[in-house]
Parts: sequence; structure tokens; C-alpha cells
Amino acid sequence: MHEEIKLLFESFGCNFTYYGNTHTAQNKEITYEIFNALNKNGYIEEVQKDLPYCNFDKLFLYDRYIEGKCPVCGFEKARGDQCDNCSSILDPKDLIEPYCTLCGKREIVFKKTKNIAIDLAKLQPQVEKFVKERSKFNWSRNAINESEKYFKNGLKRRDISRHSKWGFPVPLKGFEDQTLFVWFDAPIAYIGITKEWQDSKWENYWMSEETKLIQFMGKDNIFFHTIFFPATLLGANLGFSMVNTIRSYEFLNWEGKKFSKSRGVGMDLEQALSVVKNPDYWRFALMAIAPENADTDFTTDGFAEAVNKMLNGKIGNLFQRVLMLIKTNREIFDSRVEIDEGVAGKLDELYSKYTKHFKNIELRDALKTVVEIADLGNSYMSEKAPWVLAKAAKDDKSAAKDFSTIMNLLAKIAYYTGILLFPFTPDSSRAALAYFGIERDPKFEDLKKMPVLNLGLEPKPIFEKLTDQQIKKIGSYS
Ligand SMILES: [Zn+2]
Ligand SMILES: [Zn+2]
Repeated sequence: MHEEIKLLFESFGCNFTYYGNTHTAQNKEITYEIFNALNKNGYIEEVQKDLPYCNFDKLFLYDRYIEGKCPVCGFEKARGDQCDNCSSILDPKDLIEPYCTLCGKREIVFKKTKNIAIDLAKLQPQVEKFVKERSKFNWSRNAINESEKYFKNGLKRRDISRHSKWGFPVPLKGFEDQTLFVWFDAPIAYIGITKEWQDSKWENYWMSEETKLIQFMGKDNIFFHTIFFPATLLGANLGFSMVNTIRSYEFLNWEGKKFSKSRGVGMDLEQALSVVKNPDYWRFALMAIAPENADTDFTTDGFAEAVNKMLNGKIGNLFQRVLMLIKTNREIFDSRVEIDEGVAGKLDELYSKYTKHFKNIELRDALKTVVEIADLGNSYMSEKAPWVLAKAAKDDKSAAKDFSTIMNLLAKIAYYTGILLFPFTPDSSRAALAYFGIERDPKFEDLKKMPVLNLGLEPKPIFEKLTDQQIKKIGSYS
């Protein structure tokens, strides 16, 4: 799975400094260090528990191996540890009409056994204080609300060992046949993977007060990042850096329904690329509806509109028209002529707005600002009609100068658009910037100098419209 997921990320143009693994010697070492410190500090305890056991499979059923009706919202497929519909943390005993997901049978009994647990109740004052202080740093609203809900109800002791072969064995006498719960060592792997990446550098990040850790996730993982993992680190008290900012997303639905592989609702990433090969189209359209503040809905019509009207119609068109106009009129075009300061000021304003959105991690609004920049270029071009000036320039020198004034600004707007698109549509951004003489990944500093056009290149469309066939195919996944 690791290799497959890595490939998927790459096929969508996502880069990692290092894409690591949770099951490594490095992560095991840090996980044990933290576990032992928690134990020494008195936060680990032994508990006797009745656990669900499948009489057919002869196995204890943890987490996703037991499902039933959610006692809170009535969702039919709530898991033993959590309901994916209402995000309630559950105990398997709460489930209504539970069944084993391995064999599908309802031959479940509750058997007495020993487990290791972390005493979250004892850690609540520390965790609550931590969340109160850190959540000032631009946490998503749902991360704050969800955490407060837990504090209000009171944190409870949680099992962190499993009768399972998967995972790190519990480093405690009498529990050698059990392994640590995946959510115990998975967040610790943020540290473990940094160590796996570079043994000599990991402490620069994880043992430094200057570290600003920002974590992105879906809302179903909030509890483990605002409460469970911080509690682990606070209890261990070993000086590891802790999260500054949590950006947690709401859910993305497909045409008003939850994604479901079994019910054939929605596409997975591979299916998406098999219909529309350029990942940038997906990246752009999905960011335009990113569920930053509320659940959002992917619709085929919305996707077609994002690609055809915004990406191709506004942005692609701007590149194409600007490059063609300059290339076909290169004999009258003078790149040294001053630009219109009034409109250039508007461009600067939009650029400030873009950087402000990025600083606030409002990525969707940052993307919208790029579209606004393209809009500025398109409306300036329609208003000034530089092609009329190009025609008049044969016998009118001032028309040639006016043409250059307008085209220099339009080239600047197109150049900005190309650079600012880079985080969203990297391949297309690179393709566009080749016309401006940039043959590498762009940097913000590139905005300080005016573009030098490469007029030897024949302008080709950066984007294309989706075909009716593609739109129909995507619609068939509803
Ligand atoms: Zn529920
Ligand atoms: Zn079973």
C-alpha cells in the first residue's frame, strides 16, 4: 500500500521532502521512549475489560473489526471505536446489533481480558490548557469545537493495546502478546519519519522551540491530533515540539451523496486520472470547492465549469491571447515602454490579498484570487482592445507606443498568474512560464523582475476544454 499511495501522490504532482513509513526501527524507538516515560509518570494503567470476541473467528474484535448501528446518530456502519458519520468516539459495547466485519456473523460475545490504557482524564487539565493556548494560532473552527466538546464531556481512559499481530509489541511484562494501538504510534511517526529521513537533523525540528508545526487533516482525525497525541506528548514530558496550527477539513461529498466504493458513488484518484489525464484540472477544481469551513459537494457540472470556464476560459485564454498578440506584433512591441500604473496598482493589491490568504492558510480564497488576477487581465484587454492599436501602428507611431504600454502590463499580469498558479497547478504553471523564460520551478522572488518573453516559442494552449464524452463519463460515477 505504501508504494501504491506514494505513486498516487506523485501522479497528482504532490511532492514530499520524505515520504516515510510508520513501521520502522526509528519510530519503534521513539514510541517506546514515549511509552516508557508515560508509564514512569503514572499515566499508563492496566485495566480489566470485557472485550468483544468473535466465536467464529476466535479473535478479539477491535475498532473496525466490529460494526453496528451508532447509538448517537443511528448510522448503520459505525465502527467499534468511532462513528464515521457523526464522529462520536464509541465503545464497542455501545453498538446496536453489532457484527464481526471479518465473517459478517453476529456471533459476538464479551470476554474478560487485560489491556493497557492511557489515563486521559488525569491529563485533561494539561491538554485543555494546551488547546486553549495553541488554538489562537488559526485553528479551524471544527478543531476547536470538537475539542471543547470532549473537554465538556470529560476525557476518559483509553485502551492503547490490542490483541493483534500488527504493530509494535507492548513493551511491558505480561503484555508481550499484545501490540500498541495504531493511533498511539501513528502520530508519533511524524517524529519517527523525520528521524528516518535524517538522523542528524530530526532534533532540529522536534526538539526546538522555534518549530511551527502545522497539520492538515480531515475532520474525522481531529480528536487524535488535538487531544490524543498532545496528551501523549504532555504526559511523557520529553520536550518534543507540539502542534501550533491545526487545519481540519470538513467532508467532500459526491453529487450530494457520501463517497462509497461499494455503492459506486464517486471516483477514486486512479479513476479520475483515467478520464481526465492532467492532474492539474482535478487539483484546481477540487481546491475551488475545498471543504475548508463546511461540507462541500463535487458535481460534474461544477467540475466542467471550473475547467472550461475558469481554467480554460479565463486563465488559459489570457495566456494564449497575450502571447499571440505580442508574437504576431513583435516588430512594433517594445518591452521597455512604461506600464499603466493605475492598473498595475490593482495587480499589486490582488497579489497582497493572495499572500495574505496563504499566510492564513485559506487556500481556496488564494486560488480565487488568482482567478481575479486573470479577470483583471481579461477585462483590461477587452477595454483597451490592443489589436486595434496594432493595426493602426503601421502609420501611427503613438499607437505603437500605446500598444506596448498595454501589452507590457498584460504580459506582467499573465506572468503573475503563471507564478501564483504554481502551488495549485504545477505542471501547467511550468508550461506557461516557459514562455516567460523560466525553465525551473518558480519562486516568489521571480515576481520582482519583469518577464522576458521567449518569442521563439510557438504559443500552444495551456489548458483545453473537457469533451462532452469526458463529462458524461464523470457523471456516470454518480
Ligand atoms: Zn454516529
Ligand atoms: Zn467473525
